Amino acid sequence: MHVIRLRSDAHRVFIGQRRKDPITHELLRAGDDIVICSREKIAFSVESWNGACPLCGNKRTLSSVPQQEKIKVIKRHHWFWYVTPIIIFIFLMILSIS
Ligand SMILES: [Zn+2]
Repeated sequence: MHVIRLRSDAHRVFIGQRRKDPITHELLRAGDDIVICSREKIAFSVESWNGACPLCGNKRTLSSVPQQEKIKVIKRHHWFWYVTPIIIFIFLMILSIS
């Protein structure tokens, strides 16, 4: 079981999402010790966890807070998805001309 101490610098994005513990409905803040269920990626305060996920019974936990913001940014701005349709379009144009 991985316990993560929330830090205002390292977990700024996570804290900004203002997540609540699903059991106690308390806001998860900097300085809190949390546990994240590896199955649903839901965060609990360490008091709610109690050996297994209170929602699904899973005992596996994440060793770090998932970097959701970074993943989204990479997907949105990846050059591949802009360039590939243009290349295919040009290729089809050349084929239709010749
Ligand atoms: Zn769970």
